[in-house]
Amino acid sequence: MEDPEHVRLTYNDIHNIIRGTSDKIASEFNPDMFIAIGGGGFFPARVLRTFLKDSSTKRNIPIQAIGLSLYESLPGTTAEQLGGEVVRTQWLGPDPGKRLLGRRALIIDEVDDTRKTLQYALNELQKDVEAELEMLPESERDSKRTKFAIFVVHNKLKTKLGKLPPDTPYFVGAEVKDVWLDYPWEAIDIEEHDRLAKEDEGRKTTSTN
Ligand code: 5GP
Repeated sequence: MEDPEHVRLTYNDIHNIIRGTSDKIASEFNPDMFIAIGGGGFFPARVLRTFLKDSSTKRNIPIQAIGLSLYESLPGTTAEQLGGEVVRTQWLGPDPGKRLLGRRALIIDEVDDTRKTLQYALNELQKDVEAELEMLPESERDSKRTKFAIFVVHNKLKTKLGKLPPDTPYFVGAEVKDVWLDYPWEAIDIEEHDRLAKEDEGRKTTSTN
């Protein structure tokens, strides 16, 4: 198989894309909790928190982490799972549903490629919420149901295999062609990475929000 076209992004590229989307996220969703999908969602979540910090209370939005893997080969992953299925490598701590009840949770990842990871994450988190709601009297359930939204730094413009409910708010920093994105946190030599990233200017986005 041919190596896909690569586009390199610098830390500053990512930071500025997130900054450019933060007002929209704050005004349209106003999250009170982040769920970062590791490892690519960790850095974006931390940066977004800076822009969403409440200037009057100085309160930071808590970041919870989940680990999902689609591309990595993990010990114990069967041949059928590899490449096709999403595998949980880390989840919210004990009583995940309890942590989520009543919250406005923003699920964060660096890139939406096939969308399988996002579909899986949202479905599983929703299952945790529903299990917890079952334990409440029916009259309280609607007010406690978690509101979810999604933020990705990049969305690849391609046919998606995963589906997301149309009523789940979906925020994108930048749309890109179906290329392979090289993120700065994956680089060994960051100066070399940044130098090469300059050559990729013009291919980094098709539009920004
Ligand atoms: P999806 O489930 O949408 O196909 O893939 C999501 C995950 O695959 C991302 O969280 C990321 O870890 C990995 N991934 C997909 N496309 C890229 C890419 O262009 N660059 C990098 N570095 N990771 C990618």
